[in-house]
Amino acid sequence: MNFSDLGLMPELLRAVADKGYDTPSPIQREAIPAVLAGRDVLAGAQTGTGKTAGFVLPILQRLSADTAGAGQAAPRALVLTPTRELTAQVADSARAYAKHLKLRTYQVFGGVNINPQISALRQGCDILVATPGRLLDLAQQRCVDLSKVQVFVLDEADRMLDMGFIADIRRVIKLLPGKRQNLLFSATYSDDIRGLAERLLHDPQTIQVAPRNAPIELVEQRAYRLPKEHKRHLLVHLIREGNWQQVLVFTRTKHGANRLTQQLEGAGIRAAAIHGNKSQGARVKALEMFKRGQIIALVATEVAARGLDIKELPQVVNYELPNVPEDYVHRIGRTGRAGAAGEAVSLVASDEAQYLRDIERLLRKTIPVLPTPAFAIPEGSAHEPSGADRGRQEHAGARGHRGHSGGHGQHASRGGAHGRHHGGGQQTNRHRHGGQGGRGGAA
Ligand code: AMP
Repeated sequence: MNFSDLGLMPELLRAVADKGYDTPSPIQREAIPAVLAGRDVLAGAQTGTGKTAGFVLPILQRLSADTAGAGQAAPRALVLTPTRELTAQVADSARAYAKHLKLRTYQVFGGVNINPQISALRQGCDILVATPGRLLDLAQQRCVDLSKVQVFVLDEADRMLDMGFIADIRRVIKLLPGKRQNLLFSATYSDDIRGLAERLLHDPQTIQVAPRNAPIELVEQRAYRLPKEHKRHLLVHLIREGNWQQVLVFTRTKHGANRLTQQLEGAGIRAAAIHGNKSQGARVKALEMFKRGQIIALVATEVAARGLDIKELPQVVNYELPNVPEDYVHRIGRTGRAGAAGEAVSLVASDEAQYLRDIERLLRKTIPVLPTPAFAIPEGSAHEPSGADRGRQEHAGARGHRGHSGGHGQHASRGGAHGRHHGGGQQTNRHRHGGQGGRGGAA
């Protein structure tokens, strides 16, 4: 099967060939004919599956066939996305695929001056890609007319709901004409997504595709269990020891991302943070420096990392585990693409033990827990590990390998005092061996 079998017009086939794609991905094979036929679509597809081209290509074709609407200022297709980055990426894709057509794409998102967006919208566009909040601001100021929208796309709908956009989405829908085509893309299905889909979609074609790569097979995963305050030391150690050149580090909060970035810089590791409080310019700059190898560590929050076009990374570090296990899969899916070896390292504090268990349940696999190297923790640190502490961590690891459901964090969380009383290297060794045996068994 190739792109010409999908019924795409020559201008789009040329654009696809210019991009160097030769075969359509599974989502494209199903979504393109459905959208061309005017169907509503409910698609379960993650980033990396080629979903963007799956909706952008047929939308472009439908709009170029609609000669009556050509040249009008009001957009005829509207794509809502959760983040600025994704908005920019979708708009860039649309422009690239439309390069042999006379269709204009424009993007709007918050966090930047609204006035240039107002002026640009006055020039008109065929496809508008937007984050919900800024779009509503523009609509309120009567700077955008959504009454001509024929195709409405919710991209990464699950993420939009997670970010609390449901009310905004409903407000946007009220501004659209009743008769239109609706496409909903979501990596996961919750009851909320199902509810939204039921209200939004009419007799949709349902498409479900697996992630482009099963990252689990390609990514070497491991975890370390250690107190929060030791995480930064271990990370510095891992980066130095492994001579890592490009690592994406996930933190749970913006503040945490900033702090860790400073700590890495303090340890002589070039780093930058990327999160929702950073200006668009700062984020683009950080991403470019990372891609060019000018910084080694990019420290990102989940939401900011979503939609970033970075993949085939050698290393991803979960500095904090995500509380939604699917997010773990997305995160580590950024490594090890196209057969390249990737490593995903998780630093797990005792209060994250449950998250690790949830992830293991989703993966149906135990993630090997390695002993924290003692030399990764600097001398004079408040929690300098004694032999017994190391034993405790390895003990926790050994339990992890066997996939105990009964709280393999409890041991670690009991803290140093408890462990210290146990003493000894003997125990350390026994547990380490136990752990590795368990790992072998789980693999
Ligand atoms: P997406 O899932 O839309 O974010 O796309 C993931 C990546 O795959 C993007 O970098 C696209 O340029 C690329 N891509 C999309 N479709 C294809 C295809 N048919 N063949 C090869 N690469 C593709």
